[in-house]
Amino acid sequence: MKAELPAVTLPGGRQVPALGLGTWHMGEGDASRAEEAASLRAGLDLGMTVIDTAEMYADGGAEEVVGDAIGGRRDEVFLVSKVLPYNASRAGTVAACEASLKRLGTDRIDLYLLHWRGRHPLAETVEAFEGLKAAGKIGAWGVSNFDEPDMRELLGAAEPARPAANQILYNLARRGIEYDLLRWSQVQGIPLMAYSPLDEGRLIGHPALEEIGRIHNATSAQVALAFLLMRANVIAIPKSGSPDRVRENFKASEIRLTSEDLRLLDEAFPPPTRKRPLEMI
Ligand code: NAP
Repeated sequence: MKAELPAVTLPGGRQVPALGLGTWHMGEGDASRAEEAASLRAGLDLGMTVIDTAEMYADGGAEEVVGDAIGGRRDEVFLVSKVLPYNASRAGTVAACEASLKRLGTDRIDLYLLHWRGRHPLAETVEAFEGLKAAGKIGAWGVSNFDEPDMRELLGAAEPARPAANQILYNLARRGIEYDLLRWSQVQGIPLMAYSPLDEGRLIGHPALEEIGRIHNATSAQVALAFLLMRANVIAIPKSGSPDRVRENFKASEIRLTSEDLRLLDEAFPPPTRKRPLEMI
């Protein structure tokens, strides 16, 4: 039986699957590009239709791989890309978006994010985002690597506009946001995109995940993703350049972690007991 992916509703009302596809390190070598595009298409076939990329990745190379992967099936995809902070001036944001659109081979990005905070005033970047939205070049905008105080400042600077998402580092080994940002974002109705959900692969083979995996006939990657899929308003975006591993990651949605599993996970990866500054990779 094919599992249904849980969904997250974005502030504009659009529903997207809570499990998507990352692209960091794609497009770095010519030899692997076809396999990377095939991996993304394997994910789309399963309904993992959120594709996350950025102008930074392989200096635009990852966006080109995404462009190859989504050719002929653009309408299935919820496309996310990011502007680098040093490009995020009023004019720079527009120019960066247009360059991304070209590499992606499309006329619109569904969600366009500020990759992390830089020196350009937030109000300027937001003004550029709103202009791009009015022009139909992006569907919505958001941010990445913003902690709760940054988010509060952003809401003030953007009013009455609001971000559609905040993409942050979140996985079992990096649970700091469970102290504050996770709940705050849920209350605000601002979805979180959990990047590096496998801690860049470091969670693979972790003994606690293997142990829980044995009970569910699942791999450590699947258990790590299942943990994130239980969270409301969180979209996990694992990256794999292998179609088989993408299919493996998709099956995380079939796992129902029990309270005993969660107890074991808390033991191996203790949740935060005090505020920790948001970590980023
Ligand atoms: P990740 O998804 O946690 O882990 C990716 C690594 O895990 C790759 O080495 C991948 O190798 C491996 N992997 C994936 N599935 C696997 C499986 N089932 N079994 C074994 N290994 C597996 O790390 P990430 O790429 O850093 O994060 C995901 C995405 O988040 C990125 O690609 C990017 O789109 C986004 N991101 C955003 C930011 C930001 O600042 N906004 C920062 C980092 C990442 P293979 O490819 O060989 O399978």
